[in-house]
Amino acid sequence: MTTTLLKNLWILTENVNRDLIFGDILLENDKIVSVGKYSGDADNTVDYSGDIVSPGFINTHAHVAMSQMKAIADDVSFDDFLSTTFRYDAERTEKDVEEGAILGIKEMLLGGITTFADLYYSEDKIANIAERYNIRMHAAWAVLDQEYTTQKGNPIDNCRRFMERIKEEKHELVTPSVGVQGVYVASEETFHKARELADKYGSYVHMHLSETRREVNEHIKKTGLRPVEWLDRIEFLNSSTVAAHSVWLTDREIDIFADKNVRVSHCPTSNMKLATGGIAPIPEMRKKHVKTSIGTDSVVSNNSLNMLWEMKLTAILHKYSKWNAEVMKAQEVLDMATIEGAEVLNSDHIIGSVEPGKKADLIFFNSKNVAFQPFDASRIISNLVYASDRSAIRDVMVNGKYSVKNGKLLF
Ligand SMILES: [Zn+2]
Repeated sequence: MTTTLLKNLWILTENVNRDLIFGDILLENDKIVSVGKYSGDADNTVDYSGDIVSPGFINTHAHVAMSQMKAIADDVSFDDFLSTTFRYDAERTEKDVEEGAILGIKEMLLGGITTFADLYYSEDKIANIAERYNIRMHAAWAVLDQEYTTQKGNPIDNCRRFMERIKEEKHELVTPSVGVQGVYVASEETFHKARELADKYGSYVHMHLSETRREVNEHIKKTGLRPVEWLDRIEFLNSSTVAAHSVWLTDREIDIFADKNVRVSHCPTSNMKLATGGIAPIPEMRKKHVKTSIGTDSVVSNNSLNMLWEMKLTAILHKYSKWNAEVMKAQEVLDMATIEGAEVLNSDHIIGSVEPGKKADLIFFNSKNVAFQPFDASRIISNLVYASDRSAIRDVMVNGKYSVKNGKLLF
C-alpha cells in the first residue's frame, strides 16, 4: 500500500453539505481515506500551497471516438449535418475509431474530465484506450434495429459479447452499459432486449431521447404517442435509464421522468449549435427532483469536449431563457458536473465527491490563475464556473494516479 498526502488545498468536497474546507487529502493507493487537517506522515507528499481541488468532472454523454470528425459539418442545416456525419461514420475503420478515441480522451483529461459515459460501437477498442490513458469510462455499446446499423453482425449480440468480455477481463476503469441510439431506429423489441441485457449485467441503458422536434413529431405519426409517453407505455423507463438531450418534453413527460426516476444528460452546446430549437426544461426537471447532469455530446456537434464551457453555458442559458438570474446557480451546475453526474451514472458510491471511501478522481486548479483573481475563498465556485478555462487546471488525477501534471499529459 502506498500513501499520498496532498497538502494545503482549498477543497470543494461536494459532500452532502457542499463543504468548502482548507486542509489536506490523504490517499491510500487509489482511494481517499481522509479529508481535512492531517499531521501524520505519508510515502509521498505534494504541497499544493493554497491551490484548489474539486472532484473530477463527469461527462455523462459523449461519442469520444468521433473526435477525428471535428469541423466536418459546421454551419450547415440539420439535414446536411446528419448526412455528412453518417457518410463519414459509415466509412470509418477500427484504426480511425482508435485514433479518434485517443484524441478525445486527451482533450477530456486536459479539461479535468475524469469519467465519461460513451455511446458508440467498437466500445471494446475505446475501453482499452481509456485504460491505457487512465480515464474512467462508462461504455455503452449502441444497439439499434438491424436494418439501420452499419455495425458488422447483430448489434444486440455485439453488445452482449462486449459486456461479457469487459466482465471477464476485469477492467479497472471501465463499466459496461447498454446504448440505444434512439426511438427513430429502435423498435419495441429492441428496447426490451436492451433492457434485458442491462438488467442481466446490473447495468443501465444510455440513450438519445427527444433531442429534436422532428424525432417527436415522427414518433407521434408512427405510434400516436410522444417518445417518452411511448417508452412509458412499453414499460421501458426506470431509474437505470440515462436520457441524453431531453429537450422536447411536455410537463406530463417531465412527470413521467420524475415518477420513473429517469436520469438526464443535458447537452447545451450540441443543442444550440445544431439549432434544433427549444431549450431542455432542466430547471423544471430539477424542481421535480429529476436527476440531471451535463454532457458534451461529440465534437461533430460541439467541436470541443470541455465541461467548463458546458457548465457556464448551462448556467447562463437557463438564466437567460427564464429572465431569472436566480435559476441554475454556480453551485448547482458544479453539482451537475460532479456528484449529480455520479448519481446519474449510478456511481455516487464510487466517485463524484472528495470524501473518505471515494476513488481519488480529482482536479487541481491553480489558485494564482487569473480566473481566481482577486482570490477570495467565498468566490471560488463562481470563479470556477464563470471565469476559469483549461489554463487554470494544474493537475488531473484519476484512480489515485496523475493523468495530467502541470498542464501536461503524462500518458
Ligand atoms: Zn449524442
